[in-house]
Amino acid sequence: MHKILTFVLTLLIGAFGILSCGAGSQKATSKVESTIVKPTFDSDSSYSYVEKQTLFGPRVLNTKNHDECRLYLSEKMKAFGAKTTLQDCSLTAWDGSKLKATNIIASYQPEKTKRILLCAHWDSRPWADQDSNPANWHTPIDGANDGASGVGVLMEIGRQLQAEAAKGNLPDYGVDIVFLDAEDLGTPKFSNKKDNEDSWCLGTQYWAKEAKKAGYQAEFGILLDMVGGKAPNFMWDYYSNQYAPQVLQKVWSTASSLGYNAYFVPAEGGAITDDHLYVNRIAGIPCIDIIDYNPGSGTGFVPYWHTMDDTMKNIDRNALKMVGETLLNVIFNH
Ligand SMILES: [Zn+2]
Repeated sequence: MHKILTFVLTLLIGAFGILSCGAGSQKATSKVESTIVKPTFDSDSSYSYVEKQTLFGPRVLNTKNHDECRLYLSEKMKAFGAKTTLQDCSLTAWDGSKLKATNIIASYQPEKTKRILLCAHWDSRPWADQDSNPANWHTPIDGANDGASGVGVLMEIGRQLQAEAAKGNLPDYGVDIVFLDAEDLGTPKFSNKKDNEDSWCLGTQYWAKEAKKAGYQAEFGILLDMVGGKAPNFMWDYYSNQYAPQVLQKVWSTASSLGYNAYFVPAEGGAITDDHLYVNRIAGIPCIDIIDYNPGSGTGFVPYWHTMDDTMKNIDRNALKMVGETLLNVIFNH
């Protein structure tokens, strides 16, 4: 991930901050969703999936760790009853190098026309280029939160969907869980090249072009990124609010009805270049980003973002649970 466009952020706070906060809280209270939880979300199980990914080591493209984790994720989703497709592709990184990438697409009820898209990136940043110690800038990170957490939540959702399918209890639409590759290879800070927005989210750009060609449509999409940190602060991303305000409303009001309103704040945070941007721009699917926003950290993200400290010690089962439970309620009460 990703970059917060600070000039947009300044503009938002300066010009629209108060307005959007006011409108947000008004809308959030006007809609009360049913709070019947169908399946339960097992945060221990989800935590173990996050941990397992980090045990492969950094999931950097063109490495053995990446190959092994690719196999693990695809076999797991098959075992969880999803029709699983490996979308292999060759991509070009910021420095012109070639990347062997794979988007992993796991579909539930693939025969249904009406669909929901859930996604997270599964690669991890090859460089700790935000680390306070410059000696670490070229070292790959564990990416426990930045990457593995979102995937771990979606894996547990897949497992729950399988359990509900066995009871004949699935909703009347399909769910596509997509693990996106090559999100986190954007221009490193130590490079003398200007950061190019399109050097990020490479796997998603490929996926979205293919989805558009194939005529794929989902009613809406939800991206998870850095959802496993302690006491998260999920705020509305600017692009999510531009492209998919109704999805933000749906997700934040569901979280609130489950008692998570202290962590799902219905106010704009910043403009974040992340996978959802390309899902919206290229595939035309209204998609939001649930991401831990940290206004006080200087980068806008958690203080250990793109550092050697993005490890399991920062992963909190409570955070995984609140996101997983919210998503299951969105899926089953949609
Ligand atoms: Zn990242």
